[in-house]
Amino acid sequence: MKSTKNIETIAIHSGSKHWSGSRGIASPMEPATTYEHDITGYQEGDFIYSRYENPNRLQLEQLLCSLEQGEACASFSSGVAALTAMFMSVPKGAHVLIPEDMYHGSRSLLETFANQWGISYSSVDTTNLEAFVEAIQPETKLALLESPSNPLLLITDLEKTIHVAHQKGVSVCVDNTFSTPFNTNPIVYGADFVMHSTSKFLGGHSDIIGGAIITAKTDAQFDAIRIIQRKQGSVPSPFDCWLLARSIRSFPHRMRMHNQNAWEIAQFLITQDSVEKVFYPGLPSHKDHEIAAAQMKGFGGMVSLLIDGDGNRALEIVGRTKIIRRATSLGGIESLWEHRRSSEGEHSTTPENLIRFSVGLEHVKDLAEDLAQALK
Ligand code: PLP
Repeated sequence: MKSTKNIETIAIHSGSKHWSGSRGIASPMEPATTYEHDITGYQEGDFIYSRYENPNRLQLEQLLCSLEQGEACASFSSGVAALTAMFMSVPKGAHVLIPEDMYHGSRSLLETFANQWGISYSSVDTTNLEAFVEAIQPETKLALLESPSNPLLLITDLEKTIHVAHQKGVSVCVDNTFSTPFNTNPIVYGADFVMHSTSKFLGGHSDIIGGAIITAKTDAQFDAIRIIQRKQGSVPSPFDCWLLARSIRSFPHRMRMHNQNAWEIAQFLITQDSVEKVFYPGLPSHKDHEIAAAQMKGFGGMVSLLIDGDGNRALEIVGRTKIIRRATSLGGIESLWEHRRSSEGEHSTTPENLIRFSVGLEHVKDLAEDLAQALK
C-alpha cells in the first residue's frame, strides 16, 4: 500500500511493531519454534509454529511490503526459493515468458524443474516490445522481467511492457534485485508481483541469503504462494529475518552511495583504453538510457564492462585488483567483481570478455586507483 512517507522513513519505521512487552526501540530476535496455547486451546490469530508464522518474519514482510508499496509479502530462505514459489503458483499447462538476458540461476531453475511442475517456458528480448507481444502464447500466464538485467544491464520499459502483458491476460513479476526499491517500484508501473533476492542490496553486507515475493494485491495466486511458503517450508529463520530487517533500516542511505559510486566508476571506465564497452543505464550511450532515466530514481550499483581482449585477458585483469575482491554475488558494502562467464558455467552465453562489477561503498577515488592499476 502506498505510504505518504519517504523511503528513508519507511525503512526505519515500518515493521517495527514487536510482540514483547519490553518497549525496546530495537526489536528482539525471537528464536522460538513453537508457542504456548491459550488455556482454552489455540485461538485464531495466535502464533502456533514458526515455519507457519513468527514475529520476526511478520516484521520483515511488513517492511518489504512497505518498501515496494505492495499489499502483502511472503519471504523465503533464498531468492531462488521465492522464484520457485512464483513459478509453482502458475497453473499446470501454463507457459511462462522469461527474458533472454537474466540471472542464469533463474533460467536454470526452469530448465531443471519446469517439466516436473507441468509448465513450459520460452525466452524473449523483453527490451523489444513488439518481440515481447509476439512471444506471448495462448497459454502464457506469467512474464518475468529483470530491469536492469543480469549481467548485461538491459533496460525494459516496465510501464509499456506490463500494459501489453495485461492486455493479453498475462501477469507480470519483476525481479527488482538489481534496481532495488530505492530506485524503482515496479508495482507503481503495474507489476502484479515483485521478486527479490534479499541476499544482495537489501541485505547489503554479504552475510544473509534470502528472498521475497511482494504482491500488488492479495489474490488467489498470492494465496497459492503463501501456501507454498508455509507448506513447503523454504522459510528464512527468525535470525535471518531479524538481521535482514536490521540491515534494511539503513538500506536507502547505502543505496544512494551505491548509485553515486557506480555512476562515477562508469564515467571513469569509459575513459580507459583497455575497456571496449561499458554497460551502465546511467550512461547516455546506453541503448535505453532515456527509459532508465524515466523509471529509475538512480541507476543502480552494478556496472558491466567488456575488456578489449579475450577471456584470458579479462581473467588476468580481474585477478589484479587489491581492494575490489574477486567473487560472485553483489550488493554488499564491499566492491566485488568477477569474470562472469566463469561463474555462470559451461552453458553461459555471456561474452567471454565481460566483467561484472558490484560497486561498493569504499571511497570512489580508491576504487578508481585500484581499477587504473588493474587495467594497465
Ligand atoms: N535474481 C537475481 C537478479 C540474482 O542476481 C540472483 C542471485 O544472484 C537471484 C535472483 C537468486 O537469488 P539467491 O542467490 O538469493 O537465491
